[in-house]
Amino acid sequence: MSDWEELIPKPRSRFLRVKCPDCGNEQTVFSHSTSVVHCNVCGAILAKPSSGKVVIEGEVVAVFE
Ligand SMILES: [Zn+2]
Repeated sequence: MSDWEELIPKPRSRFLRVKCPDCGNEQTVFSHSTSVVHCNVCGAILAKPSSGKVVIEGEVVAVFE
């Protein structure tokens, strides 16, 4: 478990524009998603939850706050 969430009163959530490594599709992923995010086109895993935030499997091309 990480401690950073307790040190930061209000962790900022973001929306990440992620490019699928398999097909190049770009879609928006919530930075604190609690479920695995699949590519809408080919079904590859784009992000998976880990310790309260997500691990991005693809390439982050933009960040929206
Ligand atoms: Zn894809």
